[in-house]
Amino acid sequence: MTHTNHFSGSLFMVVAPSGAGKSTLVNALLAQEPSIKLSISYTTRPPRPKEQHGREYFFTSVKNFMERRKQGEFLESAEVHGNYYGTSRILIGNEMSAGTDVLLEIDWQGAQQVKKEFPHAVGIFILPPSIAALEDRLKKRGQDDSLVITRRILAAGGEIAHAPDCEYVIINQEFATALSELTAIVRAARCRFSQQAARNTSLFAQLGIHANLS
Ligand code: 5GP
Repeated sequence: MTHTNHFSGSLFMVVAPSGAGKSTLVNALLAQEPSIKLSISYTTRPPRPKEQHGREYFFTSVKNFMERRKQGEFLESAEVHGNYYGTSRILIGNEMSAGTDVLLEIDWQGAQQVKKEFPHAVGIFILPPSIAALEDRLKKRGQDDSLVITRRILAAGGEIAHAPDCEYVIINQEFATALSELTAIVRAARCRFSQQAARNTSLFAQLGIHANLS
């Protein structure tokens, strides 16, 4: 099903190769804009030392993941770096029709699937300032073993090749600049005619503005 009807909330998809600094940027955005709801994905990847079930991800077995997928629980799902990831469908529609902005941190395969169902979803690609910077971040993070790091560096090129699928690109060279660009994108999306019309129905009616939304 394609949702061409307009929700008053926006759907943001932040896409990046691992090591581009995506999570740090997204966390800073959420601290600044607490009304945005971050979708917590399901994953079959084992938790990293500081990760908590229900906070970073819902950690699950491959069997459980496949059952959920079969039941149609996921808006999108994909295999990334040898593990499965999926976005729970329930939250998205409910939150957006209630006027809440929702943010997904997903890979390019997931972003393509979401776009099919929500063509108005806003794709934001985070690029590292160089390949060297990306490798450096992955190594310094110290969360993964060297095999996992190598795998992620090799996969980065594949992810980056899909940057043109996104409407927006942020180069994460200087953190403060990247954050202000991300904030600007979120604020601009909220001012789209369709979002304003959905959020301010009585004002628009009073002013005689008839939304011609597609
Ligand atoms: P990590 O294992 O480092 O947390 O995430 C690895 C990759 O999986 C990242 O590119 C991240 O964006 C992606 N990812 C996380 N959650 C989802 C999801 O629900 N769906 C998809 N398609 N990708 C996800």
